Amino acid sequence: MKSFAYVRAQTVADAVKVDGRFIAGGTNLIDLMKAGVEAPETLVDISRLHLAQVEELPDGGLRIGALVPNSDLAAHPLVIARYPVLSRALLAGASGQLRNKATAAGNLLQRTRCYYFYDTATPCNKREPGSGCAAMGGYNRIHAVLGGSEHCIATHPSDMAVAMLALDATVVTLGRGGERRLPLAQLHRLPGETPQVETMLEPGELIVATELPAPAGSRQTYRKVRDRASYAFALVSVAGVVKVEGGRITHAALAFGGLGTVPWRDPAAEAVLVGQAPSDALFAQAADVLLGQAGGHGDNDFKIPLARRVLIATLRELTDA
Ligand code: SF4
Repeated sequence: MKSFAYVRAQTVADAVKVDGRFIAGGTNLIDLMKAGVEAPETLVDISRLHLAQVEELPDGGLRIGALVPNSDLAAHPLVIARYPVLSRALLAGASGQLRNKATAAGNLLQRTRCYYFYDTATPCNKREPGSGCAAMGGYNRIHAVLGGSEHCIATHPSDMAVAMLALDATVVTLGRGGERRLPLAQLHRLPGETPQVETMLEPGELIVATELPAPAGSRQTYRKVRDRASYAFALVSVAGVVKVEGGRITHAALAFGGLGTVPWRDPAAEAVLVGQAPSDALFAQAADVLLGQAGGHGDNDFKIPLARRVLIATLRELTDA
């Protein structure tokens, strides 16, 4: 690991003034530094800032401080009661020890677990722009089937972000230009020609909270398919928030992990469902729309039929169809 400067921020305003890389739980960044993938000159320790509160909002929503540990968030009574999809997604991620240390904002900003990204002996456009992509034509079983480019097909690894996306979360940030609110759906960038640029955050911009609106759907679930029963990233996951009234689906929010280069949501697939009576034929139609543009790269071809089955099973569960 290369030497670096360490600054402990006392206030949020001070933190964003320093040129450096923010660190809180460090559950991903320290690994990346040890592997030589990241070598920040300055670490700005934000772990002592007062950003670890979960607060109810006047409209029935929830404000989640950036530093709330994943395990605390999963166990929070308001999350369990109103946003069970979020609690389930959090508990499906990582291990107990990691969840105790990892923070809500860090979870959104964790980096891909593409094997080649961590292997500095191989080409990787995300780690070293312009060097190539070893996953293309390499072993790509865990890679994306949606949202990739010829430059990168790495998946975003977060479970929590997938649930928050289905819940229409908003990210609140503080930067040198002041506070900004950004729908979570706009936070992560597709790789395109610049896979090393992963979010819409400006340099020095700090996520201070995530806000959830009052839940729109009455039924929620998170279903994750992975290689092991715990401590494994999603091959395919689905966060579903659905409401059925009078025998028809009146609200459908579906987000996916393991499929896309960013936490994935497809309004066109949701639109297929709304206003219709639940049935397997309808669910298959939504899957056709979701996966119409999907493309495998060999080892990950199986994700496309797997996603179809997981989506249909999730919708059966959420609608009692
Ligand atoms: Fe790097 Fe992306 Fe290719 Fe993985 S998929 S090797 S992260 S460029």
